[in-house]
Amino acid sequence: MEKTHSEALYKEACEHIVGGVNSPSRSFKGVGGGTPIFMEKGEGAYFYDVDGNKYIDYLGAYGPIITGHAHPHITRAITNAAHNGTLYGTPTKLESQFAMMLKNSIPSLEKVRFVNSGTEAVMTTIRVARAYTGRTKVIKFAGCYHGHSDLVLVAAGSGPSTLGSPDSAGVTKNIAEEVITVPFNDPENLKKALDKWGNEVAAVLVEPIVGNFGIVEPVPGFLETVNQLAHNAGSLVIYDEVITAFRFMYGGAQNLLGVTPDMTAMGKIIGGGLPIGAYGGRIDIMENVAPLGPAYQAGTMSGNPASISAGIACLEVLQEEGVYEKLDYLGSRLEDGLNNIIKNHTVPATVNRLKGALTLYFTSQKVQNYDDADNSNDVLFSKFFKKMLNQGINLAPSKYEAWFITTAHEEKDIEETLKAAEKAFDEIEKEQ
Ligand code: PMP
Repeated sequence: MEKTHSEALYKEACEHIVGGVNSPSRSFKGVGGGTPIFMEKGEGAYFYDVDGNKYIDYLGAYGPIITGHAHPHITRAITNAAHNGTLYGTPTKLESQFAMMLKNSIPSLEKVRFVNSGTEAVMTTIRVARAYTGRTKVIKFAGCYHGHSDLVLVAAGSGPSTLGSPDSAGVTKNIAEEVITVPFNDPENLKKALDKWGNEVAAVLVEPIVGNFGIVEPVPGFLETVNQLAHNAGSLVIYDEVITAFRFMYGGAQNLLGVTPDMTAMGKIIGGGLPIGAYGGRIDIMENVAPLGPAYQAGTMSGNPASISAGIACLEVLQEEGVYEKLDYLGSRLEDGLNNIIKNHTVPATVNRLKGALTLYFTSQKVQNYDDADNSNDVLFSKFFKKMLNQGINLAPSKYEAWFITTAHEEKDIEETLKAAEKAFDEIEKEQ
């Protein structure tokens, strides 16, 4: 596959942009290095790169692109918004319309506030939880990613539930010590952590369905236990639904699972491909936010007409009949096909799937928490990733990331993908 234009552009980008990329997940560091492909055009399920290669895309821009690239309804909404001015700094009618759409689909959102990214949304829910409870500590789950604000860039310590240590240079030890990390799907250790630190914990922060060490569902009863233990300790429960809101159904993972948090952070899909974040929850908690209450949060770009219009248009597409059934059907085709390939090869691998999102891990054991996911073999994944890319299948360059199916994918795309995967497995098996 020709890559000379990508290579030249990457070289140029490295001269001007740190690391040549504007988000580290776009680099190929996680797959043993190499040149990230420079895409020129996205259309439906496909990408076209600067060297004229075509790809079936499963990256979905790390989640937001659930209706395929350049969906005409969303493109029209963005164009129309731009004609009337992209940013006002005043309230607009559209913001309430969109807030109402979110509230109607996720009932725990009694009041919402729009921000500009998932990072901002999660960061603010923590501030508001601290303001509401008067406490400082936060419990999170190992391997879950909640954006790049200081407090959530904290790694697990060595024990089953420990005070954190900084996961990034520049995050201070003091901040990290406000965060307690517990394994996902492990109610016992959550209980121990709350027994020990409960009266200092402002909130338990959780991805109700994990999207950040692949797709990992909560074991039955886990989220109910999170709610019960947190509330018994006087702590709030915050769901990070930045990946999951509108991913699996029209609404949140909380609707799908029948569990209710005190606050929810969202992003990605609700911006239809433009920058957005939102948070919301119980009225008595949300009324702590400025200008009503003492917890400050603001944003020059927040609620801008372009992002809001794109978000409304995206949700309109997702309301169309059969959308989520199609995502689930194509997901099941892909999962079955991959499982068949795994069965016929000696390469250790396993698939986690929920509806239109799945992860292929290179480990033979079931993946239920971060340690299981981390067992996925780096070398095998790197080989697989590159072999798929060379056959025109675009995946995230990270062994934990989900493959996202969009409403633009068709059965023929799934078949082509499975053919490529079979060839990749054949080659990897021979190389072993
Ligand atoms: N929370 C979760 C669950 C995420 O997956 C992400 C992004 N991958 C974020 C928060 C941060 O969102 P953003 O990149 O929009 O800041």
